[in-house]
Amino acid sequence: MRSHYCGDLRKEHIGEEITLMGWVHRRRDHGGVIFLDVRDREGIAQVVFDPDREESFNLADSVRNEYVIEVKGKVRARPQGTENPEMPTGEIEVLGHELKILNRAETPPFQLDEHQQVGEDVRLRNRFIDLRRPEIQKKLRFRSKVTHAVRNYLEENGFLDIETPILTRATPEGARDYLVPSRTHEGCFFALPQSPQLFKQLLMVSGFDRYYQIAKCFRDEDLRADRQPEFTQIDIETSFLGEQEIMALAEGMVRKLFKELLDIDLGEFPTMPYSEAMQRYGSDKPDLRIPLELVDVNDLVADVDFKVFAGPAKDPKGRVAALKVPGGAELTRKIIDDYTKFVGIYGAKGLAWIKVNALENGAEGLQSPIVKFLGEEVALKIMERLGAQNGDIVFFGADKANIVNEALGALRVKVGEDLNMIEKNWAPLWVVDFPMFEELEDGSLTALHHPFTAPNCSPEQLLEAPQGKLSRAYDMVLNGTELGGGSVRIHDQAMQRAVFKVLGISDEEAEEKFGFLLNALKYGAPPHGGLAFGLDRLIMLMTGSSSIREVIAFPKTQSAACLLTDAPGEVSASALRELNIKLRKTP
Ligand code: ASP
Repeated sequence: MRSHYCGDLRKEHIGEEITLMGWVHRRRDHGGVIFLDVRDREGIAQVVFDPDREESFNLADSVRNEYVIEVKGKVRARPQGTENPEMPTGEIEVLGHELKILNRAETPPFQLDEHQQVGEDVRLRNRFIDLRRPEIQKKLRFRSKVTHAVRNYLEENGFLDIETPILTRATPEGARDYLVPSRTHEGCFFALPQSPQLFKQLLMVSGFDRYYQIAKCFRDEDLRADRQPEFTQIDIETSFLGEQEIMALAEGMVRKLFKELLDIDLGEFPTMPYSEAMQRYGSDKPDLRIPLELVDVNDLVADVDFKVFAGPAKDPKGRVAALKVPGGAELTRKIIDDYTKFVGIYGAKGLAWIKVNALENGAEGLQSPIVKFLGEEVALKIMERLGAQNGDIVFFGADKANIVNEALGALRVKVGEDLNMIEKNWAPLWVVDFPMFEELEDGSLTALHHPFTAPNCSPEQLLEAPQGKLSRAYDMVLNGTELGGGSVRIHDQAMQRAVFKVLGISDEEAEEKFGFLLNALKYGAPPHGGLAFGLDRLIMLMTGSSSIREVIAFPKTQSAACLLTDAPGEVSASALRELNIKLRKTP
């Protein structure tokens, strides 16, 4: 057995006889002396083999990178002048007495310090080697600390950890399901849970009062940069609490995590209504570290001849908004062109701008391709509303409100980052008062959260005019990322029916899909609510990582494959036969 971890050795151990077990990180031959850097999960220690212990010296000479070895030796101070202040173990070294090779290793497909050159595919295919890198080890250890602290906090607050099934029925969180064929029920499929939503509600009906689970969830979505088909949620549900109390519990947890693990005081989280977030930031997860804001100018441009602005300004579903960037008049044509392409990703057809060069000269001092269409007076009124100053640039979005919000909302963040405008490290907030429903292109309504979210009105009021009704949902946002979200749920059958009705879900369909929940609501369902945090994103933010793949031990690729195990894989004809599945030839 080891006596110490390599990375734990310090000056205090000088003189001690010790045993290390680990991997050869590097071998160096220095004028007749062999140096082995031995690595384990705690760090690296330097071991020296002198030729006077011939057997171990020869063996040390023969080892290669990533061999697994056992070393017995004595800790000593490094000779003066050879200390390495960069390494925690840099003041000492181990004089190797005995060396045992526990296992050999082939030359690894990449050296641990070369990972950046090799590309993510190679790393993911050889993830067991990639995971040896100290940076990623540190992140996964941090992750373990977070889940430990989460459990502590929730247990201290009376929450019970209860597991819910993985083989289950569809949960409507808005994504496509992963399906698993049933062998014993011909033609039937399980769905992997998109979240434990319905089960956690049932647990409340059963009287558990406070539930949590660190739960795997599965969503078959087209993957964007920060999504994984399977991911982990800190899933929480409580009974008899209103939104304020649930939010306070959840905020307490996140604040405690940041304080205990990073020594960061996040302070009290401000609360912002959804409508304000969209108005000022074009986003329901605004990054409040960036001091730029969208300002409406609909009223100022509704009557101009410039149709590009006047059209959306008069359209009830349109929006014309301006984004003032202080100091942005320096932006080159090339950068503005790049920003124009960037907003194009979000559906914007162009990016109008005005540079404020010399406001004292009135409209003459504005440089822009659009002032002549807007008219000088209107242009100056806009500048006045924005409080524009010489040296600023103003960008405009004019289109359907959702396009303007997405495009200018994203531009706001991009410009803020490009121009180093980030004012603080951490900006948490709660977004509340979400609309209950969202209109799809065909005019039908869909639940903005999920259909079990309680509206902020009576069933009658909801049925009378569903659009514009707000829900009792809340999202926690940190630095422009949605960390978590949830709601007070519907616990009343009549309300649940009303919501299904608005969503166009017939009684039969509701019965067939969620009959068990509707049934449970009949038998004494308490008022309840909860939320879920995306654990991967939380860890990503806390460790300053750029992708959730960096904080997941075995992540999947953008195309939802596991390169390491080669999953998903084909299955044998007999396995398919047992499942009564016949594959269709793709035409
Ligand atoms: N089930 C929700 C989700 O996965 C969270 C919640 O409402 O508690 O987003």
